[in-house]
Amino acid sequence: MNQKGHCAEMIGTLSDYIDGELSPELCQSLEEHLKDCQDCRVVVDTMKKTIELYKMEADKESIPSKVKERLFARLNLDDFEK
Ligand SMILES: [Zn+2]
Repeated sequence: MNQKGHCAEMIGTLSDYIDGELSPELCQSLEEHLKDCQDCRVVVDTMKKTIELYKMEADKESIPSKVKERLFARLNLDDFEK
């Protein structure tokens, strides 16, 4: 089998897999593939870590308070202190 082509196909399903939106059949073939393919396992790990980091960032306030303070001051929004 063309291993490279197979990997590309598997990687194409990864984001759905991580989101839990992949069909059970495709999940199974992906997991089978991951057992045999170090390259794709690395891709999955990297992707999961990236997503975890992204979620952690999303939980924080999107704008640091200092930046927000300056922004409000510049906009003359004097109700910032409330
Ligand atoms: Zn692979």
